[in-house]
Amino acid sequence: MDKILVIDDSAVQAEFLCSILRDNYEVTTCHTAAEGLQAAKEGNFSLILLDVIMPDMDGFMLLRELKGTTLTQHIPVILLTSLADIQYEERGLLLGAVDYVAKPFSPVIIKARVNTHIQLYQYQTHFKQQAMVDDLTGVANRRRYEGESAAKWQEALRFGIPFSICMFDIDKFKMYNDTFGHPAGDQVIASVAKTASSYFRRATDLFARYGGEEFVAVFMGSDGKSAYDFMRTIRQAVEDLRIPHNASVSPWVTISIGGVTLIPKAGDSYDTYLKIADTMLYDAKRMGRNRVVWTNEFQEQWKEK
Ligand code: GH3
Ligand code: MG
Ligand code: MG
Repeated sequence: MDKILVIDDSAVQAEFLCSILRDNYEVTTCHTAAEGLQAAKEGNFSLILLDVIMPDMDGFMLLRELKGTTLTQHIPVILLTSLADIQYEERGLLLGAVDYVAKPFSPVIIKARVNTHIQLYQYQTHFKQQAMVDDLTGVANRRRYEGESAAKWQEALRFGIPFSICMFDIDKFKMYNDTFGHPAGDQVIASVAKTASSYFRRATDLFARYGGEEFVAVFMGSDGKSAYDFMRTIRQAVEDLRIPHNASVSPWVTISIGGVTLIPKAGDSYDTYLKIADTMLYDAKRMGRNRVVWTNEFQEQWKEK
């Protein structure tokens, strides 16, 4: 059930709206702008119904605040008012309200408008999510990776947390396609992604398809040696899928992994360390594939075999 927030200083009006909407929605009511702003930030609302005239802060001010706050700016707002003045309507719409309803309102009209805006919000949320997911594997796509990796790096920098960047790539995959066909190759990419992504379960983990048969992962909190051990487990889990392959590396499909762990310092650049992760991957390939090569900011190195 979608959640709706009603912000109206009049308890009678708020209760009236509640009674109209509560059969189809989970409705929360607040009677001051301050309470409303707090609730909007904390609850997971799909729509806000906002009274324009309130004693502490008028609806327009609150609307500006909601639209200027990252946590709330995506929530559609319908303004409620008894001011039948066109100027107010203009002002509300220009500030970013999706709709405007004049009191006294008819339950039928309120319901219809609310339903429409909830539906639009659901479509929008769905497409936004779709745009961030890789179709073949269901994991994060390159676009989401680009957006989120920078934010995670900033967080690690701010809190002085160890940060790991990992690149991996399926071994001799061109040969796999040539032997078993492209559709079978697609299945392999999906299986490898599923296996690897099952290990990245923390809220701070980011695992994405970087492109083709390459993946990238960003995770926090582990030192270099633990990150290396963690990635060895994943490399082994992929080999343990026992997907037959005819490359000389192993009888099965395998991956090579390169990565780096560091505590980011002011002046460090994410891209420099991404390149280092890529160099480690290149080394893993060069040394014979199906292995992990890892380093840290002090050039200590861990590698298999
Ligand atoms: P290496 O061990 O050095 O990584 O060898 P490789 O053959 O895996 O490397 P290369 O980069 O030469 O080839 C990657 C192959 O991956 C080429 C391309 O046909 C295949 N590939 C890339 N994207 C997809 C995809 O979405 N589906 C399938 N089936 N194959 C893909
Ligand atoms: Mg490859
Ligand atoms: Mg490749």
